[in-house]
Amino acid sequence: MPRDFLKDVKDKYDVIVIGSGLAGLTSANILGRAGYDVLLLEQHYKLGGMATWFKRPKGHIFNVSLHGFPYSMLKSCRRYWNQEIADRIVPLRGILFDNPQFTLKTTYDRASFTELLQSKFGVAEATIKEFFDTARGMNFYDDQKLTTKDLFERFFPGRNDITRLLMEPITYANGSTLEDPAITYGIVFSNFMSKGVYTFQGGTDLMIGLMEDELKSNGVDIRINCSAEKINTENGKVKSVTVNGREIQCRSVVSNANLLTTIFKMVGEDQFDKDYLEDAKAVRVNNSSTQVYMALGPEDHIDRDTGDLLFTSTADRFETNLLLSRDITSRTFSLYYPDTRPHDQRERHLIVSSTNARWEDWSDLDNEAYEASKQDLIETTLDALEKYLPNARERVVYTEAATPRTFYHYTRHHEGASFGTKFEGLPVSQALPSQIKGLYHAGSVGIIMSGWLGAINYGVIVSNEVDQLLMQ
Ligand SMILES: Cc1cc2nc3c(=O)[nH]c(=O)nc-3n(C[C@H](O)[C@H](O)[C@H](O)COP(=O)(O)OP(=O)(O)OC[C@H]3O[C@@H](n4cnc5c(N)ncnc54)[C@H](O)[C@@H]3O)c2cc1C
Repeated sequence: MPRDFLKDVKDKYDVIVIGSGLAGLTSANILGRAGYDVLLLEQHYKLGGMATWFKRPKGHIFNVSLHGFPYSMLKSCRRYWNQEIADRIVPLRGILFDNPQFTLKTTYDRASFTELLQSKFGVAEATIKEFFDTARGMNFYDDQKLTTKDLFERFFPGRNDITRLLMEPITYANGSTLEDPAITYGIVFSNFMSKGVYTFQGGTDLMIGLMEDELKSNGVDIRINCSAEKINTENGKVKSVTVNGREIQCRSVVSNANLLTTIFKMVGEDQFDKDYLEDAKAVRVNNSSTQVYMALGPEDHIDRDTGDLLFTSTADRFETNLLLSRDITSRTFSLYYPDTRPHDQRERHLIVSSTNARWEDWSDLDNEAYEASKQDLIETTLDALEKYLPNARERVVYTEAATPRTFYHYTRHHEGASFGTKFEGLPVSQALPSQIKGLYHAGSVGIIMSGWLGAINYGVIVSNEVDQLLMQ
């Protein structure tokens, strides 16, 4: 008999959270802690969504999206999770840029960038200060017509090299382009510049494990292998969720699944106003990614001076479109030293190469072409790594590739989107409860509300709204 993953589930909950990405997990935790009866449904066999990891023979554990986040993550984790999780958030100091326009190392914070912009790029200190103050002063309610390109042109006219320094990591990090509203750039960039780049010591598996313990201690009913099929409504209100063929009643739903999937597949067009649907149909999904995971042999090691995060490119100039091309010129290498996982018995050195990618470059390949394309991705990545890790091809003992299809497979994100939707998804996500009472969306939409920090913070915002509704 197949296992019943809903065994002993109740007939009714205060809240059903669909999806265990960081936004879903955080919402579930806050609502559970507040005393509500919460059911958390995850279609995959493991929690975390994109914040995930996988184990391979010989004990290699690869992190998929643990490359770096801003310092504020520590505060959010302390407040909405616990001290033990917050205590493991540590800085990454070795950030390298290497491209035909410049090569430099930085701690990726305001002091380091101010010094570099002066000494290497010849910008006056007053201009740099004004740029940083402008970026930091931007807020959500500002004029959204100003694009990131306009912002750079205003402060650094004609300087493609400075655009590259300021924009490349942010584009890598969330697929944003020069045509996106400048506020989205300003908020994310300033978050990083406040104190640099941080990581979670111990790996994603440890973090999600600690989160699971915390959820359980707050009474959240967690169910994996449970795919929510339908969100059912009655008289404009949420009524229940159909999951694994079973209907479970609830007063409220927080969907952490992709925004478009939530609206068009789980609820259905006929439940929404015409204007809302038009806005929803205009929402673009964000790009996807490819990754190559590489492990060194047990006796081998990487010199610590190589850096933690390497933003590399062979393209002569910076163009956001080039970062998406299947003809890859740009790669971010994340280097994981033994101190990433201090509790491991064996010292391991791992490398993950990440590149932005388009769904359509991978979606229609037949099996043979797909496997060949993955192998080509691995081979070209090993070639590119050679510059930073001499004899890389001989030293790397394990390789594996992930593509947009992989991300779709594990998270069901429309077109394998790494960061949900583009910026216009945010108002559509926020307006969901005005369309259907009790229905909320928390998850990657646009730049501010995605990434580890953005997803956690969006989960916090939405759980407060749910709390207000349930208290009525
Ligand atoms: C390659 C890559 C590298 C990244 N690097 C970084 C980084 O260095 N720093 C950073 O801050 N961010 C990074 N990110 C982004 C970050 O991981 C995500 O923005 C964040 O984890 C998304 O969280 P989320 O809450 O939006 O949900 P997601 O992680 O998208 O999870 C959604 C969850 O919903 C589940 N689900 C979907 N449909 C259903 C259903 N019908 N029923 C039940 N469950 C369902 C999915 O299985 C999934 O678990 C990276 C992402 C990728 C892909």
